[in-house]
Amino acid sequence: MPRGRVIKNYNGYYYVDPGSGGAVECRRRGKMKEKILVGDMVEFTATGAQKGVIEKTEPRKNSLRRPAVANIDAMFIVMAAAAPDPSRFLIDQMLMTCEYDGIHPSLCFNKCDLDKPLAEEYAAFYRRCGYAAYPVSACTGEGIDSLKALLDGKVTAFAGPSGVGKSSLLMRIIGRELAVGKVSDKIGRGRHTTRHSEIMKLREHTYVIDTPGFSALDFTHLKEKEITSLMPDLAKYSGHCRFSSCLHRSEPDCSVKQALAAGKILRERYDTYCKIEDSIAERK
Ligand code: GDP
Ligand code: ZN
Repeated sequence: MPRGRVIKNYNGYYYVDPGSGGAVECRRRGKMKEKILVGDMVEFTATGAQKGVIEKTEPRKNSLRRPAVANIDAMFIVMAAAAPDPSRFLIDQMLMTCEYDGIHPSLCFNKCDLDKPLAEEYAAFYRRCGYAAYPVSACTGEGIDSLKALLDGKVTAFAGPSGVGKSSLLMRIIGRELAVGKVSDKIGRGRHTTRHSEIMKLREHTYVIDTPGFSALDFTHLKEKEITSLMPDLAKYSGHCRFSSCLHRSEPDCSVKQALAAGKILRERYDTYCKIEDSIAERK
């Protein structure tokens, strides 16, 4: 049975990319129970020229909850070096939201043309926390080629708050990559008129997804213990405290506080942890 990747869900149709020959417009088999997400690998029966019926979905490697997209190989959180100014707390929350969905993201600091030193500073900071980070500029093109090289053979999602230049960045990546203007037009329309996630194929096995509506999780519904598990740089130490119930605030023999004092955990990251821990405590 032919198989392919769902690249778009629109008006009850699923557009399935079988790898070559263009997308197949599919309905779902009526008796299918499971939800079909953009990004899913599916098996389908061909019913006509570029038409088919999806019979089943294959197991997912991961999925984002909002927007619901499946099987992401890599994810970039896009922030700006300026306009809007970067906020560590917001960045941390976006990173943690990805970790919650089982995706270890990377960071792009766009608009590095406006403040190169700050973009470099933020990138260096997050590299120390275990995240790959890249200063780029959709305007000047700086860093775009190295960013594009990272996309090869993967499904890569891009998320970020509005205004950081995510659309400009995607245009840069896709517009340059594809000789035909058709796909760029489609993105141009899509981003203004819909909130759907759509996978854009750059070349064989290489896809980019815009994830409109991606925003930070409401962490107040989590348990305190869960917070550190979403911060890999803290999680490394949190299992070694004297008390298994340690909240890493004023308890004795706390490995997190020790790592903080030794400079192995960065103060700003610990501050984020405390801020979220406080918000959970307040909710109780
Ligand atoms: P989005 O809301 O994240 O999709 O952001 P847009 O792509 O619509 O860009 C928001 C604004 O930032 C626009 O005015 C862009 O021209 C500007 N912008 C985007 N990328 C860059 C960049 O690399 N440098 C500078 N200086 N401005 C940029
Ligand atoms: Zn502790």
